Amino acid sequence: MAGSIPLPHGNKLIDRFVVSDKKNMQDMYTLQVSNELRNDIENIADGIFSPLEGFVGEGDFQSIVKTGRLNNGLAWTVPIILDTDEQEARKMKDAGEIALATDSNEKFAILHVEEVYSFDKIASAKSIYQTDDIKHPGVEKIVNMKDRLVGGKVDVIKRIERSPLRKYRMTPAETRAEISRKGWKSVVGFQTRNVPHVAHEMLQKAALNLYDGLFVNPLIGKKKQGDFKDELILSTYLALIDGYYPKQMVMFVTLHTDMRYAGPKEAIHHAIMRKNFGCSHFIVGRDHAGVGSYYHPFAAHEIFKDYTDLEIEPLFFPAFYYCKRCLMYSNERNCSHGPEFREELSGTNMRKMVSSGEMPANHLMRPEVAKIIVSYNEPFV
Ligand SMILES: [Zn+2]
Repeated sequence: MAGSIPLPHGNKLIDRFVVSDKKNMQDMYTLQVSNELRNDIENIADGIFSPLEGFVGEGDFQSIVKTGRLNNGLAWTVPIILDTDEQEARKMKDAGEIALATDSNEKFAILHVEEVYSFDKIASAKSIYQTDDIKHPGVEKIVNMKDRLVGGKVDVIKRIERSPLRKYRMTPAETRAEISRKGWKSVVGFQTRNVPHVAHEMLQKAALNLYDGLFVNPLIGKKKQGDFKDELILSTYLALIDGYYPKQMVMFVTLHTDMRYAGPKEAIHHAIMRKNFGCSHFIVGRDHAGVGSYYHPFAAHEIFKDYTDLEIEPLFFPAFYYCKRCLMYSNERNCSHGPEFREELSGTNMRKMVSSGEMPANHLMRPEVAKIIVSYNEPFV
């Protein structure tokens, strides 16, 4: 199918890595950040959040919250922010340039402090998450943030060390080079935070009938209780792709950032990151990035109507199920049979499988995948 790989968001791939410019980092005012934040700082430096070059300033922050766009009008829905308390914020502002360090005090980046500002936590949460219910994990996170935000560009000096979990991480520059080497003109991005069922596989393969390549891109990072652990998502997908996918048609790359559970706004954010990786299309799931019942199942589809300028095309596949009458994977668009003929692996089935060690039917979950899950001691976060 004809098509083309989009330019990065904002037309330029951001690269904020500085080679061996350690300057006088040792003498700099230093702020320790969490591992989760360090992930996102590296994501900024690698251009996964292009066009952001650092933590957003007040103008962009207010614009994102109020309009779902940066100050310059470019689509952006989830602000990337650094919070701190008032006293520390003042010191950072005075210092101008500060070192960012891990919790073991390893300095890895420089933040060029441009501005310090306060923000309305409840109003921001309400706009991003469409609720101010403190039980929502995103709202809870924002409400518990410190009172000041710090905006400014970052320069990263040292990468996070490779670990088994990061073995499949790639930068957008690398994925774009690989897509170009493969000669793909269309690439479908698939976001996941789940272990693969055959229904997911069939959906991905349906997309492969239409486009040159499939970009399987599980999100590795902080998730909520009850989600599958990162190691498990990684190992089950590797087993699935190894056993059932044509290798030349698939790229498997991990994305290291936290789930925000912002539903529709996060669907846009997810699409933008995949555009930066070089995807021309992006599969948006039912209740994409949702949690509980905060979002209408199709809100994440509807929102794309407001973002026709995104330059990555959303694909709204209906959910796949196994139909006992059709004797195949079907969906509501191509099967006329009622719910009594449909077989799906529900969350409840999955939990039962984990607690009893009972393997699901082979046509619902590949045995290679199920074996890994049942042999795992604590599969859930
Ligand atoms: Zn049917």
